[in-house]
Amino acid sequence: MKHEGVMDSIFGENQKFIVIAGPCAVESLDQIMVSAMELSSLGIPILRAEIFKPRTDPDSFQGVGRDGLDMIKKVKSKTGIAVVTEVMDPDELDGVEEVADIIQIGSRNSQNFSLLKKVGRSSHPILLKRGFGNTIEEFIQSSRYISAQGNRNIIMVERGIRTFEDSLRFTLDIGAIPVLHERVKFPVLVDPSHPAGKSRYVEPLSLSGVGAGADGLMIEVHPDPPAALSDRNQQLNFVQFRNLLEKIDALLSAMGKERIMGREIKEDI
Ligand code: PEP
Ligand code: MN
Repeated sequence: MKHEGVMDSIFGENQKFIVIAGPCAVESLDQIMVSAMELSSLGIPILRAEIFKPRTDPDSFQGVGRDGLDMIKKVKSKTGIAVVTEVMDPDELDGVEEVADIIQIGSRNSQNFSLLKKVGRSSHPILLKRGFGNTIEEFIQSSRYISAQGNRNIIMVERGIRTFEDSLRFTLDIGAIPVLHERVKFPVLVDPSHPAGKSRYVEPLSLSGVGAGADGLMIEVHPDPPAALSDRNQQLNFVQFRNLLEKIDALLSAMGKERIMGREIKEDI
């Protein structure tokens, strides 16, 4: 795998808008395979395939763990889709680097400095989510822990912060998008799903991210959200996702932008 290729084709000269999608968590081979097939048929180039899950409640589903590595391999060989997956512990990185294309650092580990330094030495692109208690400046400092080690393939993701407002799960900081664009060279994505908390809020938050100039979106999509083992209220089903994608495409075209299709990056992986 040429990992630089993933970044070049997505974020190179003629940068196009990227939509990353997939379930909150890998639950079974069948669930992630169905998701990968549906999403790649829609041109989605990168699948969320999360096997280690950072959960606030220690009694809740913690992810399939290392058993998921083989599921990711199978999904990739069947569909050719690229995969992003989270690591929470430096020790998890070894097996994961062999199968995943992009390594995700979640909101809760956004200031885990030893983990940031470790992935800074990886040859994989890093998708870094904003700590939900972090200022934009602190978020940028986190990215510098990675880049200082030599890895400048960083994707910054605004995923909402904790404020006094509790109508939604988190407050999506739309203003972070133009500010990050002024301050860092890295692409800036919006995750509308975690701030939404409820599937009906995912569309307005997604479209506001597009409107504010984000370089892409990362959206949770599940074949059967009510049966999901985590974040069931916020995940979109395939029909909802297809409808949203149409609106995203319409808005992008009004803005003179285009969405990158899966096949455009497959050639580079
Ligand atoms: C995720 O995207 O899988 C996730 C756990 O989100 P966050 O780290 O932003 O809470
Ligand atoms: Mn989730």
